[in-house]
Formats: sequence, C-alpha cells, structure tokens
Amino acid sequence: MPELPEVQTIVNDLNKEILNKKITSIKITKSRLVKGSDAKFKKVLIDNKITKVERRGKLLIFRLATTDYRLLIHLKMTGQLIYQIKDKVVAGGHPEPKADECLPCKYTHVYFTFADKSHLYFNDQRTFGYLKVVDEKELEKIKSKFGVEPLSPDFTFEKFKELLKGKNTMIKTFLLDQKHVAGIGNIYADEICWHAKVKPSRRIKTLTLKEKKELWKAIPKVLNDSIKYRGTTFSDYVDAKGKKGNYVSKLKVYGKEGEPCAHCKNVNIEKTKIKISGRGTRVCPNCQK
Ligand SMILES: [Zn+2]
Repeated sequence: MPELPEVQTIVNDLNKEILNKKITSIKITKSRLVKGSDAKFKKVLIDNKITKVERRGKLLIFRLATTDYRLLIHLKMTGQLIYQIKDKVVAGGHPEPKADECLPCKYTHVYFTFADKSHLYFNDQRTFGYLKVVDEKELEKIKSKFGVEPLSPDFTFEKFKELLKGKNTMIKTFLLDQKHVAGIGNIYADEICWHAKVKPSRRIKTLTLKEKKELWKAIPKVLNDSIKYRGTTFSDYVDAKGKKGNYVSKLKVYGKEGEPCAHCKNVNIEKTKIKISGRGTRVCPNCQK
C-alpha cells in the first residue's frame, strides 16, 4: 500500500495535470467501488472541475469548483490512478496492470473523461480501494479519525509526548495506527525506528525522553527525505509518472536484511521472527535498543 510519501507524490503530480478541466462523463463498471449511489456520484462530478488535490494520511481529497462536495479516493492495496492525455500517461499507485496496457482494461472500474478528451482511470485488481463524494460535514468526520499530520506544524514534540502518554504498546504498533500519526505504514515505521536507534518492539513506557525525541525527529525527516526522492518502490508501487520511486536506494532497514547496518557497519540487518501488527519487521540488533 502506498504510504504518505507515495500519496503525496501523486498529489503533487496530479495538481500539475488535472486542475480546472471540466469533467464531461464518468463511466462506472464496478459500482461497489463507488460508495453511495452512482447517480449522486455523477451528479456531483459531471460538469464540475477539480480545483485542488490534497491528502489526509493516505487518502486523496479532490476539491471541486462549483460545490462544497469533495471527491475522495483511497488506493488501498492495489489501486491505481492513471491520467492520459494524448500520448502522455501519468500513472500512480500499483504498477500492475502496466499503465499503457490499461487505458482502460478489465481492471478499470471507474473512469473520468475531461472536456479536452483526456481521461483519469481508476484501476484496481483486488478492489479494496474506493471512491466517494462527501459533503463538508462528512469530510470533517472522516478527517477527524486521522491523527496528527506528521509534516504539519501541529506535530510538535509536546504533541508527540502527549500522544505517547499512558500507552504501552510497541512503538511500531503506535506508528502504524492512523489515529495517532497519519500516513505511516510498514516501510516507514521500520525506517523511523532505525533512524531513532529504537527497536520497533520497544514498549512505549520504557522509552527514555531522549529516545522519544529521536523518534519525533526521525518521523518528518524520513518522510520528507522520501518525498524528495518521489517515494519508495518495490514490486508494487510506481509514482504518478509511472516511474519507480528513488527512495528505495536510501532505505536503511526495509528490504535490507542480511546487509550490513549503515550505522555500525559490521552487524547485519535482521528480519525479526515475530511480526508486529501482522507486519514483517527489520532491525539492526546492535544499534537499535
Ligand atoms: Zn547498526
């Protein structure tokens, strides 16, 4: 699943491509992925224009010109957004099917056509993703379920300490829970813990003040660095230009098991036997305490 840096990369790219183009038609071939009625979905969107693409956690939010309704899109596991204008294809999300082989194809469940004859395709192999139009009240309700945005000024050390207070789960479990800090998934949780020199399995109550500070500093550092490189790609993720994210070469623990730790050099990164929150976890057994 794309995490905050990958979704932010899509937001940045779509803001350069799709703004202020009139939506002239919408085709829905799998109604289940559109939450609410198809008729309402089309009524809100057809003849409208997208004026801004935003993000909350891993959720994409599209502002519209002539209404307070917003379009929400969540890519979940295998969702893909492909924008096509003439020969140009801008793809974000899961890399399969290949962007140029699905314009549209059997995995295209919803597609938008704009006045300039360009298209935005929502493809999803496993169909966990969704699209939805919501009014402001509902949007606020959805947004309120997300925790603090880690790249916003609200993410102060005081705020972070307050979130940790009274909790005693493993730090990785805390980081993955979207209601505490929004947008972090498995890759970045492991990377953040490595940068802070804290084991992902550490119980929150055992963290020293210094370790809490290191974790707090590592969160925006890791996420911002990844955005700079257009996110991380392994087998299942390409950015909105169809390119693999370059942050993969900067990763320190994720996918690095068996390789020497970049801090201490002579100890190898290990994949832990025990999963945390159902996810595989990597750690340097030497410098992460
Ligand atoms: Zn190490």
